Amino acid sequence: MQTIQANNYPIYFNAKGYEALNLHLKENKYSNIFIIVDSSTNEFCLPKFLPYLETELTIEIIEFEAGEANKNIDTCVEIWKVLTELGGDRKSLVINLGGGVVTDLGGFVSSTFKRGIDFIHIPTTLLSMVDASVGGKNGVDLGNLKNQIGVINVPKMVLIDTNYLETLSQTEMRSGLAEMLKHGLIYDRAYWERFLDLKAIDFADFDELIYRSVEIKNEIVKQDPTEKNIRKALNFGHTLGHAIESYFLENESKTTLLHGEAIAVGMILESYISLQKNLINTEEYLEIKSTIKSIYDDITFEKNDIEPILELLIHDKKNEFGTIQFALIEGIGNIKINQLVENELILDAFQDYKS
Ligand code: NAD
Repeated sequence: MQTIQANNYPIYFNAKGYEALNLHLKENKYSNIFIIVDSSTNEFCLPKFLPYLETELTIEIIEFEAGEANKNIDTCVEIWKVLTELGGDRKSLVINLGGGVVTDLGGFVSSTFKRGIDFIHIPTTLLSMVDASVGGKNGVDLGNLKNQIGVINVPKMVLIDTNYLETLSQTEMRSGLAEMLKHGLIYDRAYWERFLDLKAIDFADFDELIYRSVEIKNEIVKQDPTEKNIRKALNFGHTLGHAIESYFLENESKTTLLHGEAIAVGMILESYISLQKNLINTEEYLEIKSTIKSIYDDITFEKNDIEPILELLIHDKKNEFGTIQFALIEGIGNIKINQLVENELILDAFQDYKS
């Protein structure tokens, strides 16, 4: 598979990635290597990865407990301390081997340690392959506020090897799939249509589908790395999706939602808003709603859940000057950014979601 060139870093696929990584190690005089993993990727992915590594350098493994709840500054402090104790210096290399939690947090830790050291992402979940590891956003949550602290800074390379997906649960696969559906909805109608009949897709197709998703995300980010305009397209489904994710994370009576599960609801709600603003037609809306609902379980919203979710919208980083801006779809495969949406319409969208 062809390497994809992002802004200042390459994205390699499968075997080519390990060759490129070993060459990179030869060509750069690193002092040592730190591999950041979480408790699951330490068990499932590290044993697959280590045999590929050709180096005489000291390799230290830094592990933290898996889960979004640990994507916070306390975990960063722990890792900064370990890096210091184990001789991390400005010529150390960090390899982030894991899902979006590891790549987001590991990228942030590396970008700030000694004012920034080199790092490489090796995403091991579907979501991190098609989304989190591409685009240069790194960061951690602040309490229940998602990704409130972070930087935009790119890795030296991203290495995508779909073999890591063999041990990933179906639920996590579904979570990543939500971002792929989004790529189709905002950018490529034909790609979206590939997902209308999921039964027709088998595991072998994922290499090619992941590649197309990475291409789409990269094409968008390349045009607008710092999210001044077109990159906002990637927020489709995320304005409400993030608020729902945060609300379910902080509320003890709710089961925590996976990122993709929250985004799936967000995409239905924001498609409804697109319909009401005459940006898509009823047929398109029903196709989106029924396709997404056929993949993801319905989420139950009680009457008193909606107000706090709307309040969380205000904290969305993407808001400017106190207004909530949405990226809506204009026909399947096109996006319209910077759309102001009245609260009334959001409430209607939740009402329609239930039906
Ligand atoms: P995750 O990193 O928590 O991974 C999900 C679970 O799968 C974890 O328990 C992990 O240990 C486990 N796991 C990872 N790889 C595995 C494998 N190969 N086999 C078995 N288990 C494995 O979650 P995620 O869904 O990958 O990422 C979600 C995070 O990504 C969120 O924090 C979200 O904010 C972030 N994100 C960032 C961006 C960005 O642009 N930076 C974009 C989208 C999402």
